[in-house]
Amino acid sequence: MTGDAATILIVEDEPPIRRLLRATLVAHDHRTLEAATGAEALSAMRHHRPDLVLLDLGLPDIDGQALIGRIRELSPVPIVVLSSRGDEAAKVAALDAGADDYVTKPFGADELMARLRAALRHRLAQQGAERTFASGDLNVDLVRRLVRRGPEDVRLSPKEYDILEQLVIHAGKVLTHKHLLREVWRDESVECASSARRSRWTHPRRGTC
Ligand code: CA
Repeated sequence: MTGDAATILIVEDEPPIRRLLRATLVAHDHRTLEAATGAEALSAMRHHRPDLVLLDLGLPDIDGQALIGRIRELSPVPIVVLSSRGDEAAKVAALDAGADDYVTKPFGADELMARLRAALRHRLAQQGAERTFASGDLNVDLVRRLVRRGPEDVRLSPKEYDILEQLVIHAGKVLTHKHLLREVWRDESVECASSARRSRWTHPRRGTC
C-alpha cells in the first residue's frame, strides 16, 4: 500500500462491464462506488464524495446527456464517459453537456487508466493546485494520492487524506472548520457548536467556523 487512491463512481447498467471496471480500478488501488441506474448515480453523488465519475451513456432510466447535466448541478467532479464505438454524436453531446473525456468500448485498461489520470490532473489544475506539494520532509502527490515523509510512505485513512489534501491545496491560507466539514464530510448544514470532529491536523480557532 503506497497511499490512498481516488474514489471513483462507476455508473454502468451491465453487470459484467461493471465488474470489469471495478476489478481494473481496484487493481490500481482506487476505491469504487457503483450505480446501475441514473437514479442510483444521483443518490451516490449526494451521499458520497467521488473524485471522478465513470459514466456509461446508455442507462435504462435516464438519457446520458441529461444525467451529466444533473451531476454537474451537484458537483464539478470530473466525468469520463463510456460510449459505444461509432457513436460520435453521443460523444459530442456528452462533452457539450459537461463531460471531461470519453472512452470507447471496448477499451483497454491502460487507455482507461491514462484517461482517468488525465481527468484527475485536470481537476486539480482547475482547483489551482500543483500536482505535488512539498514542505520540509513532507511530500504529497495529489494525482496519485500518495503521501511521503522523507523516504517513508505515510498510511492515511481516506478521511485523513481528504483533510490533508484540503490543507495542501490551500497551503498558506486559513481554513475554517466549516470549510473542512463541507469539503471533507460534505456537510453543508453543520453548526459550529456541534462540530466535534477534529483531526490531528486541524486546529480551528474558536469562533472561526
Ligand atoms: Ca449500458
